[in-house]
Amino acid sequence: MAATLRAVQADITTLHVDAIVNAANSTLLGGGGVDGAIHRAAGPGLLEECRALGGCATGDAKLTGGHRLPAKHVIHTVGPVWRGGTHGEPALLASCYRRSIEVAAAAGVRTLAFPAVSTGVYGYPLEAAAAIAVATTRAAAAQHPVIEEIVFCCFSAGDLAVYRRLLA
Ligand code: ADP
Repeated sequence: MAATLRAVQADITTLHVDAIVNAANSTLLGGGGVDGAIHRAAGPGLLEECRALGGCATGDAKLTGGHRLPAKHVIHTVGPVWRGGTHGEPALLASCYRRSIEVAAAAGVRTLAFPAVSTGVYGYPLEAAAAIAVATTRAAAAQHPVIEEIVFCCFSAGDLAVYRRLLA
């Protein structure tokens, strides 16, 4: 059975899924946006666990526990900073989604939620990023049948409309 893909408007820290993905920076030591929200909700144990990981390359993903979150795991991925689109950004963003699904599947994750990686402070245009998110997760989930459901967690109603259109 192919994984179900759906989009919701929510604060990702509230979702009851096996794993949520964090749009982290390469230090994995916390930041603003969704990263800050996840660290606040998870509590200091998450930062402590992240310190031991030694950072993360752009396009890669690393697993931690969920600590005080309802989600059992956090998968930290580092999206590219948008520099006009000609510096490998699409391939790096696709790699974030692919690697997150590989890491999730290896941990036995069945339900997984993604924020719109790179589309906040990192400046990636939302429509282009969402198209990559949907196409890449669909293809990667097909390779990892343990994944049953992927949720695109949108912070704004505008973002949700874009994802819903792509998923329709
Ligand atoms: P990046 O540095 O990868 O651009 P940001 O955190 O700045 O990461 O933004 C990524 C996306 O996460 C944006 O669409 C932003 O609106 C969204 N976002 C911010 N906080 C939350 C949250 N608590 N839950 C879900 N999405 C969030």
